Amino acid sequence: MADILSSPIEYLKGVGPQRAELLKKELGIYSFKDLLEHFPYRHIDKTKVSPIRDISPQHEFIQVAGRLLAMETIGEGRSKRLVAEIRDATGSLELVWFQGIAWVQKMLEPWQTYFVYGRVSFFQGRPQITHPEMELLSTDNNSGKSFLEPVYPSTEKLKSRGLGGRQLAKLTFTLLTMLREKDLPEILPDQMISQMKLLSRYQAFHSIHFPANMEIYEQALNRLKFEELLIAQLRMGLIRSQRHHFSKGVVFGQVGELFHLFYSQYLPFELTGAQKRVLKEFRKDMGSGRQMNRLLQGDVGSGKTIVALLSMLLAIDNGFQACMMAPTEILAKQHFEGVRKLLKDMPVVVELLTGSTKTKKRKEILEMAINGSLQILIGTHAVIEEVVQFKNLGLAVIDEQHRFGVAQRAKLWNKASIPPHVLVMTATPIPRTLAMTAYGDLDLSIMDELPPGRQPIQTVHRYESSRSQVMGFVKSEIAKGRQVYIVFPLIEESEKMDYENLMRGYENLKAWFPEPKYWISMVHGKQTNEVKEVNMQRFVQHDTQIMVSTTVIEVGVDVPNASLMIIESAEKFGLSQLHQLRGRVGRGREKSFCILLTGSKLGAEAKERLKIMCATNDGFKIAEKDLDLRGPGDIQGTRQSGLLDFKLANIVKDKALLETVRQLAGKLLDEDPDLSNPNHLSLKASLQVKNGQTPWSKIS
Ligand code: ADP
Ligand code: MG
Repeated sequence: MADILSSPIEYLKGVGPQRAELLKKELGIYSFKDLLEHFPYRHIDKTKVSPIRDISPQHEFIQVAGRLLAMETIGEGRSKRLVAEIRDATGSLELVWFQGIAWVQKMLEPWQTYFVYGRVSFFQGRPQITHPEMELLSTDNNSGKSFLEPVYPSTEKLKSRGLGGRQLAKLTFTLLTMLREKDLPEILPDQMISQMKLLSRYQAFHSIHFPANMEIYEQALNRLKFEELLIAQLRMGLIRSQRHHFSKGVVFGQVGELFHLFYSQYLPFELTGAQKRVLKEFRKDMGSGRQMNRLLQGDVGSGKTIVALLSMLLAIDNGFQACMMAPTEILAKQHFEGVRKLLKDMPVVVELLTGSTKTKKRKEILEMAINGSLQILIGTHAVIEEVVQFKNLGLAVIDEQHRFGVAQRAKLWNKASIPPHVLVMTATPIPRTLAMTAYGDLDLSIMDELPPGRQPIQTVHRYESSRSQVMGFVKSEIAKGRQVYIVFPLIEESEKMDYENLMRGYENLKAWFPEPKYWISMVHGKQTNEVKEVNMQRFVQHDTQIMVSTTVIEVGVDVPNASLMIIESAEKFGLSQLHQLRGRVGRGREKSFCILLTGSKLGAEAKERLKIMCATNDGFKIAEKDLDLRGPGDIQGTRQSGLLDFKLANIVKDKALLETVRQLAGKLLDEDPDLSNPNHLSLKASLQVKNGQTPWSKIS
């Protein structure tokens, strides 16, 4: 369909080939549609200008209008700055620039009158604005008319070529006058629009750029955020819904002998209510004839492993094979040993496959996988993903890896004519809003209960100056027969420095804890797998009392006798990571402690992180806070997914809207699983991604 919005941007009046080049390069604006979706980040309300005299420290952002007076640069080198004065009839205000001085000097004309906008601060009792936004108060046509003028993101380069915020506004205005209602047809079902009291699409696009007043702007913004979130939810939801309604999955119809045997005679403890509940959810999925794709979220230590094992027994009972993948060799090995220990003498064939499995053994395992004699394969995911062909894989468990995306899961599916059920397990609690957005194609199970008898880990923050007391505490814990982790940060950018830091820390600790009274093992990323393994095992066997490491022990490692976790330079870790590390202790019946050691100088955000860690053990709360503090872009593994790149919506600030949208999307798909109802066709069409492919087409 040759619609006007797909026209190349150079054909817009006032653009032309040269400016089009710039718009493409600088802002990624290729078409009319791209320009339409280049949204203003604020509006200048020319009716709201503060007299300079009235500015007080209560104001945060202000807008004034006045004449630009003397500009001069003062200071040298790093303290060099450009200072100017803006004066209206009531007083004057200082403007300061530390960056881009030459450019600002070139762009601003003294004696002209400007709108000035920015955050005010007070310096020696006088108001000033650092790096203000400046807009020449034009004397042309619109004088006298009061309206909200959009301000667009632009770049220095564009501004210097006459395509600053104001010119972008002009172009957008030109575009909007060309567009008719039919060019921006409604895509949301009528019923949804009236229920949610939304502006029409056409009106929303107009009013987000050129609103009559702030109220309408808010409505327009809300409508377009709604649409943006709904489309993201529906894309994900459609994948899930198609799976629920149309996918084929192997049927685990019966709870068989192995499951019963294990449950009645080998289970070392009573399952928690949460464990029972999620098992029920899995069994329902796996018995339905549809493929299961589930994300199991359970805080560290909530007991995910046993749940995975029981599910794998279910697969075997129904004549299928199962595999379990972990992100590291240490973890894979630990799962392997843990599973074997739990199964004791039960007749189940379990093997371990990792990068260091010897060639002969590897060949044997691959053979057993394809001929079906292997029942459970445990390994690192790289290995299983790449090389193994199964006879009839019925269940794949993926541990500690929520980054395992749709594409990677699809690889597994290719391993059998009917795709195996997939269970992804993670101890990194993902805030609900994020989970339902980024992993919306998975069904979610949550284990929000720890096994009984666990005592909450007591967390404290100590400064470097208390090191000797902290070391004294380590000694007293060891004297009680406990074990201790001491973790050093690993910052990827300067691996060498980290390594030296770790080694210095190790030498220091050896001085505090001399042999043969104390034994220390150390694990870090530069060791070969064998060395890592040996050191890990020494700690697991309690041959050493102290484990010094970098974050390689972050996930999964289970040594219930360890009761103390010391995190060095704790200010360098993110919240989720601190929580993961802390989760290495508190796994047994003893009271456990976590000490966050830091230097004396701490930024505000670091202080906040440490405070939260000391205040709560709840991984979900911590994850929410993490999201608030860092924003979604930094949450592990979501950046690559590209699923959270919203133009308008913000999953932290728009949590409530997101929740509403999620419910509506769910309801819509319940009623119309493939969006084939005529009322939903235009909505479905807008789910197409840029290259014309639906994201789910590659899956089926
Ligand atoms: P995670 O969810 O972090 O992977 P694990 O599966 O490693 O947790 O379990 C943590 C510890 O809790 C293990 O030592 C495990 O044996 C124990 N555990 C798991 N479930 C229970 C339970 N229902 N009752 C008592 N202990 C349990
Ligand atoms: Mg685990």
